[in-house]
Amino acid sequence: MEIQSLRNSVTSFLKTQIKEKNLPGWWKAPLLVTAEADSRFSVLPGIASPDHMLPRELLASCRTVIVFFLPFTRELSHGNAGGKFPSRDWGKSLSLTNTLIQDISGFIRDSFKDSGYASALTPATYNFDSRTLTARWSHKHLAHICGLGRFGINAQMITPAGCAGRLGSLVTEAPMGNHPLVTAEELCLHKRGETCLGCVTRCPVGAVTLDGIDRHRCNRRLQVNRKRFAAHPDMPDDAEVCAKCVSGLPCSLNAPIR
Ligand code: SF4
Ligand code: SF4
Repeated sequence: MEIQSLRNSVTSFLKTQIKEKNLPGWWKAPLLVTAEADSRFSVLPGIASPDHMLPRELLASCRTVIVFFLPFTRELSHGNAGGKFPSRDWGKSLSLTNTLIQDISGFIRDSFKDSGYASALTPATYNFDSRTLTARWSHKHLAHICGLGRFGINAQMITPAGCAGRLGSLVTEAPMGNHPLVTAEELCLHKRGETCLGCVTRCPVGAVTLDGIDRHRCNRRLQVNRKRFAAHPDMPDDAEVCAKCVSGLPCSLNAPIR
C-alpha cells in the first residue's frame, strides 16, 4: 500500500467513526509515519526503559513500525488551558480517544490483513511499569525514531500538528518503507534557543523542569484529578488526566518551528 493511500484511508476511517458513533468533534485528521523495523530501534532499551520491547519481540516477522498521532482540536486544547484542574471535556475525551486509537490500529491491521500481512497492536495506554512509570512500549520514543515529532521540554511529542493529542502505534509485516514527517533536530522553542518554557510555568505541581519530568509528582496529580472527576455523577471514574503542559501553549496545535 502506498503511504498516501494509508494516510487517506485512516483519515476517512476517523471521520466515519466520529459520524457513526455521534462523537464530539474533538479530533483533527491523524498524522501517520512509517519506518523500516531496522537497527534504529535497538536504542529503545537505552533511551526509553531497560525492558522496552523491540519491534520484532512484538512480531518476529515485522518489517515496518507505524506510529500515528491523533491531534485534538483547538476547542478541546484551549478549553483545558485555564485554571489548575483539567476541563470536563478533557476528562471525557480520555476513554473516547483510547477507543479511537485502538480502532484506528485495528483498521490498519485489517487493511494489511486483506493483503496477507500480519500485524501486532499495543494498548493505547497503561502499558507501563507502575513502579517506575515508564512504558515497555513507548509510543513517544517510537514517534521520535520514526520522524513523527520531537520531544519538548514537557516530555511530550511535538508533531507538525502540535503535542495536544495522543499517539498510537503498531508493527506489521507489510513493507511500507521510511516516511517521516519531521527531520529537524528539534521543534521545541526552548530547545531551539528561543524564549518559551510555557509548559514549565503551566504545570500546577512543578513536575516539568529543565532536568525532565518528575513522573511521580505528575502521577500524584493525576490521581487527585481522577478522584475529583469521580465525585461527579456524569464524569468517568477513571479519568487520570491533567495535560496543562500541552494545552494552550505555542506547541499545542502545531510545531512552533517549521
Ligand atoms: S511550551 Fe515551549 S518550552 Fe514547553 S515544550 Fe512547548 S515549545 Fe517547548
Ligand atoms: S500532566 Fe499536569 S501534572 Fe503532569 S507534568 Fe503535565 S502539567 Fe504537570
